Amino acid sequence: MSLTFDQILSWLQEDDGPRLDSLWQEADRVRREQVGEEVHLRGLLEISNYCDRACQYCGIRQPNVHLDRYRMTPEEIRAGADEAVARGYGTVVLQAGEDPALDLSVLCDVIRRIKNETPLAVTLSLGERTVAELAACRRAGADRYLLRFETSNRELLEHLHPPRAGDPPTHRLDLLRVLDELEYEVGSGVMVGLPGQTLADLARDVLLFQQLDLDMIGIGPYIPHPHTPLFQKLRTADPPCAGQATADELTTYKMMALARLACPQANIPSTTALATVNPQAGPLLGLARGANVLMPNLTPAPYRRRYEIYPHKAGSERTSAESANAALEQVLALGRQVGCGRGDSVKRRMRCRATVPGPTE
Ligand code: SF4
Repeated sequence: MSLTFDQILSWLQEDDGPRLDSLWQEADRVRREQVGEEVHLRGLLEISNYCDRACQYCGIRQPNVHLDRYRMTPEEIRAGADEAVARGYGTVVLQAGEDPALDLSVLCDVIRRIKNETPLAVTLSLGERTVAELAACRRAGADRYLLRFETSNRELLEHLHPPRAGDPPTHRLDLLRVLDELEYEVGSGVMVGLPGQTLADLARDVLLFQQLDLDMIGIGPYIPHPHTPLFQKLRTADPPCAGQATADELTTYKMMALARLACPQANIPSTTALATVNPQAGPLLGLARGANVLMPNLTPAPYRRRYEIYPHKAGSERTSAESANAALEQVLALGRQVGCGRGDSVKRRMRCRATVPGPTE
């Protein structure tokens, strides 16, 4: 289904309960038909909380001196991949800030080891990297890349996500196209309720998901971090902009449901940010309103608390075993099944099948 701007905006403005129920039901129906009943579990390893950027909203921004920094060793990353296999997951997600000391050859080597020694798909979420770096990781075997464009409002993005000194403005949409050309499965996404973001901006975000025809879409509410300029600005705040989008659960569910309708075959996680604003029901409602992926955190205990992009992150006080059990319970509570295998993009699998030549006489 191709959605128009007016349709999307109208859903984002909707507050009638029965009408919203019909949106949830439609998103759930499309999810069931297009990607099935399986919920894919991706093991998340937050491999470094160093970042040399200064995004106004992010707790691991370089100027935050209150954060105790860490970088996992290749051996720790490799062990995390083994844990993902032991827990029956088909994917490991390696996530970090834009850490310049995360050496490319070391990273490629650990990707190659995971790919050669396990059946896992490898997803990277390492921020804006050069084309050469992205190509090298792909050659090493990385399968997928997540790079949120955060908001389609270019002016707002440049304000909240400034480039490094001397660099040109951020170019995430160009990088998403590069990732597609490199034949990664491509994921992106947004935050909901950034100060200065309107419902019309969110409607344009959904249109952009549709236009980019994404394989993966991550959506979470904006959660202020006290050691960020954006939090400080909120405290001394100007009144919100006209049409300001609310950083709440309901708007996040609407965006997830609309993302499902816009990109029916995408893999859509019920995100940690959603679980942070509603630890009990958030993950379940996300899965019931369009999502088909959970990402249990396998980051070793000494580190996971320190990957603090926002405070009180869901699961940061849990062990890996507790995160894994919670994900399993959530899937079973909905009467759904845990996904088998890697949980690759349905859309790409179909495209590959269509391009593989049939047997010749
Ligand atoms: S949002 Fe990403 S690039 Fe920006 S400071 Fe946080 S980790 Fe770094």
